[in-house]
Amino acid sequence: MFNSLSERLQDTFDKLRGKGKLTEADINVAMREIRMALLEADVNFRVVKDFVASCKEKCLTAEVLDSLTPAQNVVRIVLDQLTELLGTTESKLVLAQNRTPNVIMLVGLQGSGKTTAAAKLAYLLKGQGHSPLLAACDTHRPAAADQLATLGAEIGVPVYRGDGKDAVKVASESIHEAVDHLNDIVIVDTAGRLQIDEEMMQEAVAIKQAVRPDQILMVVDAMTGQDIVNVVQTFAERVDFDGVIMSKLDGDARGGGALSVRAVTGKPIKFVSMGEKPDSLEVFHPDRMAKRILG
Ligand code: GDP
Repeated sequence: MFNSLSERLQDTFDKLRGKGKLTEADINVAMREIRMALLEADVNFRVVKDFVASCKEKCLTAEVLDSLTPAQNVVRIVLDQLTELLGTTESKLVLAQNRTPNVIMLVGLQGSGKTTAAAKLAYLLKGQGHSPLLAACDTHRPAAADQLATLGAEIGVPVYRGDGKDAVKVASESIHEAVDHLNDIVIVDTAGRLQIDEEMMQEAVAIKQAVRPDQILMVVDAMTGQDIVNVVQTFAERVDFDGVIMSKLDGDARGGGALSVRAVTGKPIKFVSMGEKPDSLEVFHPDRMAKRILG
């Protein structure tokens, strides 16, 4: 992920470093190259426009141009702007202190990695001393509940399946199940479709109304590119969500969707998933990701 973007940006910075003193024209050339690199990485064009404009404004100051190490200052500015684009600070999972069980609901398109993310999140929370329960509310994809049951068994977390038919009923019942078995967090896996569809949205809203989640996390496949912008905007408008789990960051996609999602929705990326194993979910650190991209 981000390999080609990283190489292009490093190339631009190397050229700047080779120049010593920088002119306005040098900055303009560098900004053009950064714009092209981001567009080719499939970052949303509006995001690119704003990003480059603010980098340029900060670089074209006497403070930068007349400094002893102008190229270094340009790199620092781009790094700061990239960190800001990704959310600046780590965004923690907020759990309610006065409610047991807490409810975390996962939404997203089919294949985005929702079911595996549910299990990974359960594994992470279990490791922090919680006692999660997984609720199999993806009742449309027949294999989803089996997949969750297998993953649950693997990580030693119970899975509530109910009648496997009525997703809203399964979600509501899972709360009672958690109370009965002293589970302090319920993670609700919901159905997705390959594309946005009205029935999916209505069901997600109905589940939300039934279980009143403390957190709704949208699972977004990092391989999707900027098409994801429409998808996340629709989810934000219809269901609303508190943050993003970015899945498949271990893939070799260009990374545009991952870089656009925060700017487009204003919702923070809370976790990233780097593989298929239960322990491959990590808290997202914007600064580390920005440094990784700039190399
Ligand atoms: P759902 O339809 O949204 O529930 O998606 P699944 O959880 O079934 O995931 C779809 C596919 O993506 C499965 O084959 C997962 O193993 C795979 N997957 C999920 N997350 C990741 C990840 O972070 N990295 C990789 N490489 N594969 C993933």
